[in-house]
Amino acid sequence: MADKNYYETLGVNKNASDEEIKKAYRQMAKKYHPDLNPGDASAAEKLKEVNEAYEVLSDKTKRSNYDTYGSATGPQFGGADGFSNFGGGFGGFEDIFNMFGGAFSGFGGKTKSSAVNGQDIEVKMNLTFVEAAFGCKKTISLTRTESCDDCNGTGAKGGTEYKTCSKCSGSGRVRQVSNTMFGQMVSEGVCPVCHGTGKEIKVKCQTCQGAGVVRRSRQIEINVPAGINDNQVLTLHNQGEAGRNGGGAGDLLIMIKVSPHKVLKREGFDVFVDVPISFTESLLGTKVNIPGINETLTLTVPELTQTGTVIMLKGKGTKVLNKNAYGDLYAKIIVEMPKTLDKNQKELVSALDKSINKNNYTKRKQFQDKI
Ligand SMILES: [Zn+2]
Ligand SMILES: [Zn+2]
Repeated sequence: MADKNYYETLGVNKNASDEEIKKAYRQMAKKYHPDLNPGDASAAEKLKEVNEAYEVLSDKTKRSNYDTYGSATGPQFGGADGFSNFGGGFGGFEDIFNMFGGAFSGFGGKTKSSAVNGQDIEVKMNLTFVEAAFGCKKTISLTRTESCDDCNGTGAKGGTEYKTCSKCSGSGRVRQVSNTMFGQMVSEGVCPVCHGTGKEIKVKCQTCQGAGVVRRSRQIEINVPAGINDNQVLTLHNQGEAGRNGGGAGDLLIMIKVSPHKVLKREGFDVFVDVPISFTESLLGTKVNIPGINETLTLTVPELTQTGTVIMLKGKGTKVLNKNAYGDLYAKIIVEMPKTLDKNQKELVSALDKSINKNNYTKRKQFQDKI
């Protein structure tokens, strides 16, 4: 207790009046209220501290004890016994909320239980181009919290060694009467003994020490759907960390990384490839083998194919994610010149050139006509 600075927690100085403390408390309670900070554990922790600080500083005796001994309960009593109103868990939120019913009118009426949903687990998965395009099965290893089998997640030995909670008579909730700045207030909160389950453990489960959850290493087989792409996320619901007190499990989020293919490029479900052919092939036409996604495709290049011509192969792209359809493959023809020609070849080409009417070159002719 002595190391907690309640004045600092509320942001007031040691000589603050009751009125200033009330005001600071209301501001802080609002700031860290769970409805304004959903899922923020640090805000929840802060609110607990604020709650605790106010409990002490708003009470003359406790404040005086705290000022003198650094503890609200005076010199003899350490520990948290003096704060039984804030019996751990999330009871504190409820108290605050109910107390401020009017002040928080925008958030009224929500009933919180102490059920805590499990965290999501994120893992990275590397796929080859082909694995992503066609789908695959992958096994991933992870360690996660799971509901304890030996006690069915109850934390009680054999799943049966519990009784109805003596504090709340099984309702999971307790009512408290407390003195507040508004006078005497009745607040209802989650039972601090059973955390809202209504059950009190008689004998703890040995396997999980009463926690109801255990850490387990798992191998999980993942069916990677065909057509998934780089930077997409596969979500497996309820495969994350186990929840507590009846909360649901988190999700398993698989971040997909796809390594590039040597020659194929993907855009959505279509696949693109540049196909170099020789200038003679472009004149005479040819058949070229090109890589498809999991097969070799034969591309028929007609005679007199210009460089830059794109030939589409329908349905030869990747599978469309979650649909019975496929993208297309686009092959772009790149005409390549030889690096050298010997004397004899030059003569042959020259003869060829002379035999071709210049009007056969449309673009060249149009260009010349313009200038
Ligand atoms: Zn209870
Ligand atoms: Zn257990």
